Amino acid sequence: MASRTFDAVVIGAGPAGEACAGRLGKGGLEVALVEEHLVGGECSYYACMPSKALLRPAEALDEARRVRARARPSRGSWTCRRRSSGATK
Ligand SMILES: Cc1cc2nc3c(=O)[nH]c(=O)nc-3n(C[C@H](O)[C@H](O)[C@H](O)COP(=O)(O)OP(=O)(O)OC[C@H]3O[C@@H](n4cnc5c(N)ncnc54)[C@H](O)[C@@H]3O)c2cc1C
Repeated sequence: MASRTFDAVVIGAGPAGEACAGRLGKGGLEVALVEEHLVGGECSYYACMPSKALLRPAEALDEARRVRARARPSRGSWTCRRRSSGATK
């Protein structure tokens, strides 16, 4: 098996490992980034991103439920006035 030499070996390609390897590479070092599971780490697959993707639809539903006229179909004419000039309908 061929062997290869690196200036640095970063173990784990989560956000920290990716940032570390990127900085070292930009600094001119030859870097090996070793990942045993998923490149991107917890944040991309289980934590930050999926949790926000799951939370957003619930937030949108909650916002929609707070709209006063949600249950009424929008028929007829509507008048919209600027807030500064009085109540809106
Ligand atoms: C539900 C949830 C929501 C979150 N939301 C946010 C958010 O909105 N914003 C935010 O900034 N942070 C958030 N976080 C925190 C964020 O996920 C972590 O801070 C971040 O993932 C840590 O990055 P890391 O690179 O240190 O570790 P990890 O993401 O855990 O990556 C480590 C990597 O190393 C690999 N590894 C481990 N041991 C070895 C080995 N011996 N050999 C090879 N590879 C190895 C693992 O497989 C993994 O891919 C959240 C966390 C959770 C649980």
